[in-house]
Amino acid sequence: MSNMNIEEKTFFGHPRALFILFFTEMWERFSFYGMKALLVFYLVKYHLFSDDAGNLLVGSYAALVYAVPVIGGFIADKYLGFRKAIVFGGIMLVLGHLGMAFEGNAATQSMTGEITRDNFALQVFYFSLALIILGVGFLKANISSLVGELYEVGDKRRDSGFTLFYMGINLGSFLATIICVWLGETYGWSYGFGAAGIGMFFGLMTFISGRKLLQGKGESNAPEYLEKTSFGIKNEWIIYGLSVLSTLIFWQVVQRHEVVSYSLQLAGAVSFIYIVYYAITQLNGKAREQLFALTILIVFTIVFWALFEQAYTSMNLFADRALDRTVFGTEIPAGTFLSFNALFIILLAPVFAWLWVKMGKYNPNTAVKFSLALMLVGLGFGALVMGINVSGLGKVAAIWLILTYFLHTCGELCLSPVGLSAVTKLSPVKIVGFMMGVWFLATASSEFIASVLANIASVDTSNGLAPDLNIAKQSYLKLFEYLFYTGLGFGALLLVLSPVIKKLMHGVDKELNN
Ligand code: GLN
Repeated sequence: MSNMNIEEKTFFGHPRALFILFFTEMWERFSFYGMKALLVFYLVKYHLFSDDAGNLLVGSYAALVYAVPVIGGFIADKYLGFRKAIVFGGIMLVLGHLGMAFEGNAATQSMTGEITRDNFALQVFYFSLALIILGVGFLKANISSLVGELYEVGDKRRDSGFTLFYMGINLGSFLATIICVWLGETYGWSYGFGAAGIGMFFGLMTFISGRKLLQGKGESNAPEYLEKTSFGIKNEWIIYGLSVLSTLIFWQVVQRHEVVSYSLQLAGAVSFIYIVYYAITQLNGKAREQLFALTILIVFTIVFWALFEQAYTSMNLFADRALDRTVFGTEIPAGTFLSFNALFIILLAPVFAWLWVKMGKYNPNTAVKFSLALMLVGLGFGALVMGINVSGLGKVAAIWLILTYFLHTCGELCLSPVGLSAVTKLSPVKIVGFMMGVWFLATASSEFIASVLANIASVDTSNGLAPDLNIAKQSYLKLFEYLFYTGLGFGALLLVLSPVIKKLMHGVDKELNN
């Protein structure tokens, strides 16, 4: 009886559990993006990192954040189940974000240019990053999989459920890039980072208090195993204990970008070999070709995200140094501009979802949508090139960056929700979880590549500031021009390949609604 009551009530026509997952992920992304928006400035302005070192650290952190969900997903599938993994990840995230609120002392630069840093504060900071990496690793992929579990196979609401969920992600990002950035820039870094931690605490509370609505979904596949003991300790606690210990590894690795680079290359190569091996030995005909099509598409997402993720490094620094951010006499913090991406997603996600359905048989196939995404991200940089070129000797008008975010967001909507859906439909059922992991692994590589690309526009700083506007503008121009051509070039290449990929997909993507 009580179950029926729960079933009858819906959230915009969706199972009510989506309400819980929507708000949990909203708060998780609030903490994630609030912190990420401040990160490069915190490194460059507070700890006086060079642009190069700041970009690379953001890259190593973001790469690990997106690589570890592969392991978190595996552990949830095999042992913990999604619900427990999410609670554990949430706790790590609250601790990590609150740890970020510890600033220690600001670095100082002497007249001779020598920089003195608070090494203890930096180690606390790296350890906090490790907790966040572990936390996202346990939460991110699993909460998406749990959304998928709310719908029976063939439930037509699945795609629109994912669209709503994607809007929740961006509502969190929108609020964070306004609130955390404002607190961080106005009152001090620890207020911005602390707010991120408090947001994550709300997320954890939302998830725990909504357990009843999950109605047993997301529980472990191996409850007896978790209850059993090894060495006198419950297996479940051993898993938590070992996971907490792994932060020691992430703590060290995040500080060594070359280790991150090798690990990503190794993970990429092993995944690729496994996919080819699996396709040849376990699949044939249609299923094999569909898996190849998906793999080719995933490779192209690396290029898309590598360009798109400039937002948190080069574009963020560009906004700070070279953009005219004054509106009615008040200067808007640079990081606040990131909120346009989230805002456009919230406004446009339903429009795009509607458009694809409305286009019916003219709905472009996934490969064409991906090629469009690449061209749009390229064109976004074209807008910045234009903005710099018409700015004369002054600062660049803010409208150009807003236009860039508009174009980048249209690209994101042609690739990200469409891609998640494609993963679940093009991979064989037995390896969907693994292929979702590979999807995020591709993003992980992009994050790393993005930081290396951002270094093309590195500017020599003094006390965390770029001394000369026009030198800075020239460096950004060089990078943005390069990215403009890269986006258009790879977009055109994918368009040329699209008929082949379409054939390999065997019409499966026709079912895609968004
Ligand atoms: N913005 C989306 C999120 O935060 C997608 C990120 C990605 O896949 N690179 O979930």
